Amino acid sequence: MELEDLKKQLAEIEHQAKSLAAEVTHAEALRQVKARILGKKGTLGKLMGTIRDYAPEVRGQVGQALNAANKSVGRLFDECANRFREKESAADSARAGAFDPTLPGDREMPGNVHPVTAVQWEIERVFERLGFTVEAGPDMETEHYNFEALNIPATHPARDMQDTFWLANDRLLRTHTSPVQIRTMEKFGPPIRCIVPGRCFRYETIDASHENTFHQCEGLMIDKDISIANLIAVMRLLLREVFQRDVKIRLRPGYFPFVEPGFELDMSCLICGGDGCATCKRSGWIEILPCGMVHPNVLRFGGIDPHVFTGFAFGLGLTRLAMMKYGIHDIRVMNSGDLRALVHPARLAGPTITGTLPLVIHGAETSGDAPGG
Ligand SMILES: [Zn+2]
Repeated sequence: MELEDLKKQLAEIEHQAKSLAAEVTHAEALRQVKARILGKKGTLGKLMGTIRDYAPEVRGQVGQALNAANKSVGRLFDECANRFREKESAADSARAGAFDPTLPGDREMPGNVHPVTAVQWEIERVFERLGFTVEAGPDMETEHYNFEALNIPATHPARDMQDTFWLANDRLLRTHTSPVQIRTMEKFGPPIRCIVPGRCFRYETIDASHENTFHQCEGLMIDKDISIANLIAVMRLLLREVFQRDVKIRLRPGYFPFVEPGFELDMSCLICGGDGCATCKRSGWIEILPCGMVHPNVLRFGGIDPHVFTGFAFGLGLTRLAMMKYGIHDIRVMNSGDLRALVHPARLAGPTITGTLPLVIHGAETSGDAPGG
């Protein structure tokens, strides 16, 4: 081969080596490419052995050309190998850096019960101490249990007070927990002492103080000689336990078809101490729950003789109570999945009153007429 041809061929090999070196992505591929070019049977390796075939007077030049090409290709591959080594050690140190035993662990968000659940448990504890059972009933109710048996016949205007989700199967989503009063009377008969915490539904336009899904806690006590005095005593105890202080209460006449007489129970405003503030609409009182003596018709529907037994019932708005207790001003927070609402009760192991712990998430304030009356 002429010297000139050899030089051309070497240039080609160098060019090929360069493009191959640029393509390889890992050390093993580089080793193979290197063998194909520099190995004994490689393109350049084979040429290295041809030096003896040249005439002595050009051997010097041939040797120089071969050595130069060999060196240049070798350097190219060395650089390439270095690049891989650097990459690998960077990856190693990154791996090593991922575990630093001196760093604190990842902080877990503490789990917490929903404010409504927290209040529900608290109320259950209070009533269980008084010998009440905790009952449950279906969310999907019949018209009979939700209305008829509670002294609200189809023609009764009180049905208009409760906007109802009617279902395709002629049932409805219960508008209150009161249907379980009847179910419990049927199941156990008198005497009865029970509470019924649970979810209720109303076809409401949602705003800061109205939700289509909320929680109530029904209470029912039936025995011989139960009077309003028992009702007042139990309500006062309940509120004292929930708010951890003595609260003043008052009863106002209120109309609910399933009680007679019926009352609205108010509690002195804990935020202003009765002086009047925005929360209590300057009245010093906060409407807490409707209650009353169980209507004789309701007792009859439950299979109980109203001439022998009397009882009281109340409907506590659990959602409302949780809002008051934890200072949540917007009911939409309750079903929103906003984690701040869940973190909140953790701070409330101690004394618990609103006012000092405002959690205003949507910036709105309740108008005071929460649902679930
Ligand atoms: Zn007030």
